[in-house]
Amino acid sequence: MTSRLVTNIGELVTWEPDRPIRHDAAFVVEDGAVAWIGGPGDTPATDTVHDVGGAAVVPGFVDSHTHLVFAGDRSAEFEARMTGEPYAAGGIRTTVEATRAATDEQLAGTVARHLQEMRAQGTTTAEIKSGYGLTVHDEERSLAIARRSTPETTFLGAHVVPVGTDRAAYVDLVTGDMLRRCAPHARWIDVFCEDGAFGVDEARAVLTAGTAVGLLPRIHANQLRHGPGVQLAVEVGAAAADHCTYLTDADVDALAGSVTVAGLLPGVEFSTRQPYPDARRLIDAGVTVSIATDCNPGSSYTSSMPFCLALAVRDMGMSPLEALRAATEGGATSLRRDDVGHLRVGATADFVVLDAPSYVHLAYRPGVPLVTSVS
Ligand SMILES: [Zn+2]
Repeated sequence: MTSRLVTNIGELVTWEPDRPIRHDAAFVVEDGAVAWIGGPGDTPATDTVHDVGGAAVVPGFVDSHTHLVFAGDRSAEFEARMTGEPYAAGGIRTTVEATRAATDEQLAGTVARHLQEMRAQGTTTAEIKSGYGLTVHDEERSLAIARRSTPETTFLGAHVVPVGTDRAAYVDLVTGDMLRRCAPHARWIDVFCEDGAFGVDEARAVLTAGTAVGLLPRIHANQLRHGPGVQLAVEVGAAAADHCTYLTDADVDALAGSVTVAGLLPGVEFSTRQPYPDARRLIDAGVTVSIATDCNPGSSYTSSMPFCLALAVRDMGMSPLEALRAATEGGATSLRRDDVGHLRVGATADFVVLDAPSYVHLAYRPGVPLVTSVS
């Protein structure tokens, strides 16, 4: 058993119920888990000591929504959009072609490079979706590659209907042979429920088929306009309804009484110049919210949780503390994990030392690399 004391912490965010933030704090890590929390005056003896010099320490970010298994570059599409073209979900098909043409080594290299980039910005847990293969073979290998890096893999064969494919036949494939081959590599099943992607009955069929083979449901919902996706998420007990940009009062009420986390992905609205979701309305209604990057080459090519957190504070009505909670504990709840996203005793000791005296700097100093170290 090895033990390490992390001490001289100016501000420590643990999310302990009675005391979510401590000042002038220390904690002990034993065999990778938080074993003790207290002040610097009464610390137990440990093998090593890590003096952070008065810095702030926060839980590692939990990025509960990414699409890292892809190939190709869509910077030209972004440039076009920024000069006046509206966003359309059909852009996904460009990435599908490039992904199918890539080797396993190329795809694995892309995943590894982005995970490294994310970790350098404080992300210690990441979900990764398939969804750019859209054939049995390409979806299966996408998930097998993602699985090498995270247990939080999501089968998203129902991302978009591939070009030249009959809709009904494709839904049959996703809920049949493709699901059978992909399920062993996945924990989650997801569907893009939106005009231009999948309708509510198709989405329900996909999620029901996934849960029948032991996958847990989550959903892309209400991104581009009002629609039935959020209600479907609540109906099937999904862990997450992600996007939630266009919500009716009935949608908010349904989320508030449910086990479904509202996943907010502000990098998408930033990168597509769409209106941001109203986080304030959700939080005031008692809904659990998460913040994630949705890192993907089309609608949100950022891997930075601090950037998304800053957007949430600036443009979505969240306080800096609410945004930090959504980016850590909220993401963990979205992934149904209680071992990460906090630093209470027993937690996995995933933590970030900031080059700042307070977590507030994450939103106060947008775009500035404030992560000193990630454990
Ligand atoms: Zn997404």
